[in-house]
Amino acid sequence: MTYDFSLVIPVYNEAENIPALCKEINNALKGMSFEVICVDDGSTDQSFALLEEQVLNDRSLKIIRLRRNFGQTAAMAAGFQAARGTVIIPMDADLQNNPQDVPALLAKIDEGFDVVSGWRRNRQDTFISRKLPSIIANKLISHITHVHLHDYGCTLKAYRKEVLDQVSLYGELHRFVPALAHQVGAKVAEITVDHRPRTAGQSKYGIDRTLRVILDLITVKFLLKYATRPLQLFGKWGLGSCGLSLLTLMVTFYMKYADGLSMNRNPLLILSAFLLFAGVQFVALGLLGELVTRTYHEAQDKPIYTVRERVNFD
Ligand code: UDP
Ligand code: MG
Repeated sequence: MTYDFSLVIPVYNEAENIPALCKEINNALKGMSFEVICVDDGSTDQSFALLEEQVLNDRSLKIIRLRRNFGQTAAMAAGFQAARGTVIIPMDADLQNNPQDVPALLAKIDEGFDVVSGWRRNRQDTFISRKLPSIIANKLISHITHVHLHDYGCTLKAYRKEVLDQVSLYGELHRFVPALAHQVGAKVAEITVDHRPRTAGQSKYGIDRTLRVILDLITVKFLLKYATRPLQLFGKWGLGSCGLSLLTLMVTFYMKYADGLSMNRNPLLILSAFLLFAGVQFVALGLLGELVTRTYHEAQDKPIYTVRERVNFD
């Protein structure tokens, strides 16, 4: 059985929100063809028991229970993998997202987009610990990935299933899916969505999330630009470093013959040796990267391109 869309909801200690969440979804999406996949990410409260209770009178609800808390990205990936909708729509379990936005997301997908990102334009979170870091992070991510969105962090987004299948999620990468999807050729759009304050349960994140997002951004940039040609990044630094090494060596020689400064008294000589060493290391790292890349693609039969459609092939 396939559905028009699958809602994928990561749940971690959201017992106070479960009954209202299920009710709200069914009211907002009555009559549509969908499934709801709740992924219990190792909750230690009554979340799972409450979900099981809901399943009894809700045919569209499915539950995946993870063995421990793996984090939001992993929980979402588990749901994405099990989902059988043509479109996949992740959403938070804490009622901050509004299921009434789903039809608008679907309409945008129907316009021909592969990814539609929600923008919590009127975000109901604290300013210093949430909104300010978010504004800066979104600017930075947009600039670095060249996919310009106002709200990477919004969970409520819509993806065509086949696009999501081509993106692998690790670490905390769920927020970067639009950028990663764009890399495989997806058309990305953005619409504003509703956002409400959290009224029950607790947020699972603090300000330290900002740091993790920045680190992930480095990974994403590398994946986007150099994943299939690491030597071109490291080789550039390596050759640059070797060139600088040669330059400092020449300066050392010049200082010896022009100013009579003994080479072993000149710190530039050490710098030159260090730069040469670093340069060789960079090139070697790039070559290792090339080997790893080949293993990565060939072990998974992962091509280095993606196809939108094929015509007249059997
Ligand atoms: N969540 C999860 N695993 C975690 C942390 C969070 O499944 O380890 C879920 C959580 O239950 C919620 C969603 O991810 O449905 C977003 O979490 P939260 O509301 O705490 O984030 P915030 O809105 O504060 O950014
Ligand atoms: Mg929340």
